[in-house]
This record gives sequence, C-alpha cells and structure tokens, in this order.
Amino acid sequence: MNHYVYEFSEGSRDMADLLGGKGANLAEMTRLGLPVPPGFTVTTTACRAFLATGVEPPELAGEVAHALAALERAAGRGLGRAGDPLLLSVRSGGRYSMPGMMETILDIGLCDATVAGLAKASGQKRFAWDSYRRLLQMFGHTVMGVDGELFERTLAALKAGRGVAGDHELDAADLILLTEQFKALIHRETGERFPQDPVEQLHRAIRAVFASWNGERARVYRRRDHIPDDLGTAVTVQAMVFGNLGEDSGTGVAFTRDPATGERGVYGDYLSDAQGEDVVSGVRDAVPLARLKQLAPRAYVELSDHLRTLERHYQDLCDVEFTLERGKLWILQTRVGKRTAEAAFRIAYDLLDERLIDRHEALSRVSGAQLTRLLFPCFATSNDVAPLATGIAASPGAAVGAVVFDSATAVRRAAAGEPVVLVRTETTPDDLPGMIAARAVLTTRGGKTSHAAVVARGMGRVCVCGAESVVVDLERRSLTTRSGVTVREGDTVSVDGTAGTVHLGALPLTASDVGRALESGERTGPLSQAVRRALSHADRVRRLEVRANADTPEDAARARRFGAQGIGLCRTEHMFLGERKALVEAVILADDEAAREQALAALLPPQRSDFTAILAAMDGLPVTIRLLDPPLHEFLPDRTELAVRVATAASPDPHDVQLLAAVERMHERNPMLGLRGVRLALAVPGLVAVQVRAIAEAVAQRMRDGGHPRAEIMIPLVGAVEELRLVRAEVERVLAEVSGETGQSVRCPVGTMIELPRAALTAGRIAQAADFFSFGTNDLTQTTWGLSRDDAEASFFPGYLDKGILSGSPFETLDEEGVGRLITIAVREGRAAHPRLTTGVCGEHGGDPASIDFFHRAGIDYVSCSPFRVPSARLEAGRAALVAKLP
Ligand code: ADP
Ligand code: MG
Ligand code: MG
Repeated sequence: MNHYVYEFSEGSRDMADLLGGKGANLAEMTRLGLPVPPGFTVTTTACRAFLATGVEPPELAGEVAHALAALERAAGRGLGRAGDPLLLSVRSGGRYSMPGMMETILDIGLCDATVAGLAKASGQKRFAWDSYRRLLQMFGHTVMGVDGELFERTLAALKAGRGVAGDHELDAADLILLTEQFKALIHRETGERFPQDPVEQLHRAIRAVFASWNGERARVYRRRDHIPDDLGTAVTVQAMVFGNLGEDSGTGVAFTRDPATGERGVYGDYLSDAQGEDVVSGVRDAVPLARLKQLAPRAYVELSDHLRTLERHYQDLCDVEFTLERGKLWILQTRVGKRTAEAAFRIAYDLLDERLIDRHEALSRVSGAQLTRLLFPCFATSNDVAPLATGIAASPGAAVGAVVFDSATAVRRAAAGEPVVLVRTETTPDDLPGMIAARAVLTTRGGKTSHAAVVARGMGRVCVCGAESVVVDLERRSLTTRSGVTVREGDTVSVDGTAGTVHLGALPLTASDVGRALESGERTGPLSQAVRRALSHADRVRRLEVRANADTPEDAARARRFGAQGIGLCRTEHMFLGERKALVEAVILADDEAAREQALAALLPPQRSDFTAILAAMDGLPVTIRLLDPPLHEFLPDRTELAVRVATAASPDPHDVQLLAAVERMHERNPMLGLRGVRLALAVPGLVAVQVRAIAEAVAQRMRDGGHPRAEIMIPLVGAVEELRLVRAEVERVLAEVSGETGQSVRCPVGTMIELPRAALTAGRIAQAADFFSFGTNDLTQTTWGLSRDDAEASFFPGYLDKGILSGSPFETLDEEGVGRLITIAVREGRAAHPRLTTGVCGEHGGDPASIDFFHRAGIDYVSCSPFRVPSARLEAGRAALVAKLP
C-alpha cells in the first residue's frame, strides 16, 4: 500500500526525495528534540500522482484526516473548533531547495466561525482579524487565482482612507472591514465564496501547493539550476505559531556562519511583532540578529544552542527560520545553507579544523567552479552604476582599458604599456594578437560559444559578447550605444565579464586576493589558506595530471606558478601572425621551389627563438607542440576586401593581384573540413620540416645551455594511420639531421591529436605510429555532431536548449554519451595496441570542472587547460579521484 503522509516523528533527513528538503529536515529536527510545531508531510509521490492524473490519490484524504487528528491531539486544539481553533500552515518544498519559488499558505482554519475564538484565546482582537485578512489574501490569490494586486490595492485604498502609511496602524475595526472587502473581492472575481469549512480549505491548499510545482517561477528556476521537472513537491502541514502577537513576539532567519564570507559567528535578521513572510518581503526593516540578545536574552541563548546543535548534526552551515511567540522560541525550518564561493572554502576548512568533518569531506565541499570565480579580479561597485551596454557574460572578471577597434591597434597600444579593451563586431582568428594584448574583449554579435567567448575564456581574458545595443563605426573609430552615448577610440571603459556589462570610465578594481596569493605563493588571509589546503590535498589524491594550454613564455611561466605540470597544447599559429604574416605570404606566393625554400627558411629563426623561450619557462616539464593547424588562407587578407581593392584601383598593385589569385585558389567552401592539420603538412612541402627544425634546434640549444627540454611533437587532425606514418618519417628525419648537426641527441615523442571520429574508431592502428594521443575535444565535438560551433551557436542552439534537446552546450561540458564514448573507445584500443601510450585532453573541456570527472573515469593521463583554469582543474581532478573511491 502506498503511504502518502508522514508525521514529523516518522521522517528523517534521508527522506528528502519523498518529503522534500523542508519536510525531511522538520522531521529530523523533531527527532533531535528541537521545538518544532507539530505537523505532517504529504509526499512527492502524491504530488506526482496528482500532476499526472489531475486528482489526488484516493487514499490521500483518509491519511490526511488521520494525521490531522494526531496533530490536533499534539497541539491541544481543533481545526475549526470555535473556542480555541487550530490554525495551520500549508508549505511547499521539493527535493532541492527553491526558496520562494512555490507557494505557502498560512493561517488555514480561520473563518467567520473561528475568528472570534482566536481573538478570545489570544486576547488580541486585532491579531485575529489581521490573520484572517492574511488568509483571505493568500488563499484568494494562490488557491482561487485572484490577481494579488487587487488585494494590495484594496489594502492601499483603506490605508489612504484612514490616512495611515503602515499596515501596523490599522486597528481591529479597520481589519474587520478589510476582511469583508477581501471576501467581496474574491466573490466578485471568482463567482465563488471563500470556503468557510476549514477542512475544505486544507484540501484545496494542498492541491494548490501541488500545482505550484508547475508555476512559471518554479519552472524558470529549475531550468537555471538544472533541477529535473518531474520530481514534484511535498506539502508540509504544520500548526501555526504566531510572531505577530506583540513586542515579545517576532520572527527571523539565522545562519550558523556568515554565508557571504564564511566567517564564524551567528548571522541573521530579526523582526519583532511580525509573521514569517514579513522578513523577506521587507515591509519593515529587520534588525541584525545580535539585537535579539537585548530584546529577548533567554530566547537568544536558546536559539544559539539550537544553532550549534544543528551545525554539529548537519556538519555544515545551516540556515534557520524561527519565530518567537510571546517569548517562546519555535524553529520552523532548517537547511544546509547556500553560500558564496569564498564562504564555501572558508567553512569547509574551518569545519575541518573544528573536527566536524575530515579532509576528504572538506575537499568534496568545494568545487572547481567556485575556485574559478575566486581567481578573477572584480569590480567593487559595478552594481551601483548604470551600464553603457549589456551583453552576454562570456568570460568572467573585470577589466579597465582604452577602447580600440582592431587587433593591430590593440597590440601597438598595449606594447606601449596602455591597457586596452578590444571592441569588434565579432572576432576571427586574425584578432588573436589583439585579444592577447587586450585586457578585455567586447563584441556586438555572437553568444557564449562564439569565437570571442571561447578564446577569451581559454586565455582568462574578460569578455562580454553579443552587446547588440552597441553600434561600431569603424570609419569614425567610435561606438554608439542605444542611449546615444558615443565612445571614441582611446576613451576608457570598464568591462564586467561576470555581470555582462560595460561601463564608461574606470570603475575601481579589486584584484582577486586568491589569485595573487596562489601565484606568488605568499601566505595571506584565511581564504587563501583554505584554497591552498584544498589544492594540496587534491594534489595528493589525484591521478590526473594537469597541464596548461600556453603559446607564449609568459603564459607558460604563469601556468607553472599555478601548478601546471607541463604544456599540453602549445599552438604555433601565433608564430605566423603579426609582422610574420608577410613571411607566410611569401611561402604561399613562392612560384618555384627555391623561392619557397627561401621563404620557409626565413620562418625558422623567429620560431626557434619562441620555442627556446617556452622550453626554458617549462624546463624539466613536457611541452607538447602542435604543428600548424589552420588553413593557410587564414594568414592572407580577406577575400572580399582584396577583390574590392583590386577591382576599384585605377592600376591595381601587382602584389594584390597575385595575392587575390592565391586567395581564390585556396578558397574553401567549408574550411573547417578542408585543407588543414596533417593535410596541410602533407600538401605543402617543407612546412613540417621547418617547424620541426625550429623545435629541434631549440631543444639542442636548451641542452647546450644545461636545461632539460622535453618537447613533444603533435600532429593535428589525423584520420588515418598512413597520414601519421608519412609525417612521422619526416619528423624523425629532421630530428636525426639536427642531432647530427648539433652533436646533441634530440629526441622528441611524436603523437597525434584525436579530433576526428575516424581517428577515435581506428585508434588501435593509429597508436602503432603514435607515442601519445591528445584529444582535441573542441574539433572532436564539432565533427561528432557534424556541426560548426559558431554557426550552431548563432542559429539553432538556443532553440535546442529551450526544447530540452541539449541541457547545456556540448562545447562547454563534454557530451559523455557521444563524444565521451569515442574517447573511451580510443583510449581502450589505443592502449591495447600500445601499452605505454600517454593520453591527454587539450580541448576547452580539459578545464571544465564538470567534464574532468569523466576524464578521470575514462583513464586519461592528463588534462590541459588555460593557465587560469589550472588550479580549478587540479581541484576537480582531486575531487574526481575521491568520488571514484566512494563505495
Ligand atoms: P519558503 O520555502 O518560501 O521559505 P515557507 O514554507 O518556509 O516558504 O513559508 C513562508 C513563511 O511562512 C516563512 O517565513 C515561514 O517561517 C512562515 N511559516 C511557515 N509555517 C509557519 C508556521 N507553522 N507558523 C508560523 N510561520 C510559518
Ligand atoms: Mg522558508
Ligand atoms: Mg583541432
């Protein structure tokens, strides 16, 4: 037989699935002996049955009647009893706390026949009629569907007629009149009279709470917090206690520690002579909880005791609702409280020091996402000033700088020491140098996974994208906002990537203490200490190594300070940008072998010095260098621009004509699937050789200088082992050549990226020619789904999220079911063919806290991510190892 109703004494905290968090915790507190008004909880099962069929399960009415009888005995009052009526609250609460998202109805049981009894029993006529009008208001709105605004208006009109401002100033006679007006309003709006039968009130209230599960507010909240839609809410029915019986009564909320900072000591607010919902609704100003010490010293001591009991019992920060009825303390709710990232770290490690939890538990209480938040600098005051424009908060943090409108200007002004903010309609790989140089990137188009957003996040650069109200005028070198403000190149703006806003002028910045402390290794405040302890514990337990994606010596050095154990992805594209673009052009335009060889040779020295510096910064640790990946025409000017220039010039520049021909020749319909990666290496003779030579000479140089260079050479976009075999032969030929020339034995592991489904599916064969695999999960996601990220993001992704086809972007959190399956196959078959094969992940997912757990389970050896995400990845890798050990 189904059991739909549990008295508080029958439940416990482990029953939150069935009783909701609120019901389960009320039961737990009852068992702990805390002063909880008696009650019972109707299960989520009953709610699900109701939502599925539209009617309550047939047994429910009987079970409620039975529990109600027990409640009446415990309270010593009867529902609907005219002399001393029992009043009830009917409260909502699902498995996961959604504060304020569903309905609660207070004072059930009041009606024309009981209101006088309440007045007599309490000795307060005004209180009784105030409670009645509150019931009419809540019930009329929530259960009977009357627009809540109409009640407010009626109340306001009465106050205006009496010439008073606060609800408090209305007397009993006013409230009697208001009650009549509310009843009339309900009748007028619904054609129905307010039910005078308290049992009917109770059943209708329970039904309304069931239905509030599907209310708009609750649904929006669930979507945002990824709470499943089919859990349903429990309904708790509880004897009312009254905080609005005068000065010795009141209501409040208390936290066992500060949920904003984690600081020890009780925090909260208290409002005297008030009912629960008054505290949150802000009818009157609450006072800090500490004032209760003077107002009601005995109750304060008792409350402090209970808070301690709860914290010891739950072994965590608890948040508590309480009410004082004529000096008597009642606890109405508790839950493990929500907290900021800062508080999460401090509380976990304080609780460890207080021996309430062990260190594994402490580590499991903090997350990589929280740590990421602590690492970005922030504005002290951006909430207080109106923004110039709002867009998508694509990459968190805060930055101030001068507006510039193109990459070259960004690079130039930044090199001169000026902080800049790069503003573009959207960004392309061409903008990379500017993005690296800028403090922040602002785009007017594109979403969370646009190029700007992805690259900025990867670099830890602040980014707001899709600020559609901003119009960029490249000719005038200015931007205009919807409100008509014009910002010229060089003007200072502040970009808040956490809030997604842009402000005129320089807002004051607060550097992240934690970031500074981690980078410098200095011993600073308690928060940084807690973070450091979490990280060192994670480092001890994790199996996954953490490397960084870094293309420059500066990034490499920073990554190392953040604890990176090498570079998992060193891209070489930027080595062909800026002034070196001309050298690439020369390679492309070379019309004979000699010219090409000469052009390639010119690329050697700058690359070699880049590699030498990076290997020095990562001395002793592996540096995985990926050979050139993007199609060559990305290094040439834009096709349309060039065509226009050639067509409109009186006598076109012959260089332009030649360039245009090359661009036309190399134009591809679908560059993502075109001549790139290993295909390029095989198609352009000499390209691999020049890159490998630069690497090998850099290694030899470092060895001569007494260093321990550990370069690894990585071939992108391989789909067939034959491709890898051919390139590998070339790589080894050059390594041998350089070894011969320099007298240093230059040996580098040669591996491949796995970023095509075919590569994953033939991993057993590919592993025969590879020393390592590195999963390029960005491309692997694109090619597995058969979509281009930028296009998908701009067009159908939002719809897919709405329809529930996707629960989040597969570019942010790895699609375990599809892409993850390919990875699992490739790891298994690769290792079977080559037992010492090393495997890593170098896509954006390598730094995604939610994906790291999967990589751990899949048996990957290391993840690689942007330097700023290295600490979070270390933390998550530790957590993943702990979770995997749980029974
Ligand atoms: P929420 O989940 O939105 O916090 P609650 O069910 O906790 O909703 O109730 C709303 C308010 O009513 C809270 O302030 C609560 O303390 C108060 N309340 C609920 N039940 C009772 C009761 N039995 N006696 C007095 N106040 C109550
Ligand atoms: Mg509550
Ligand atoms: Mg790739």
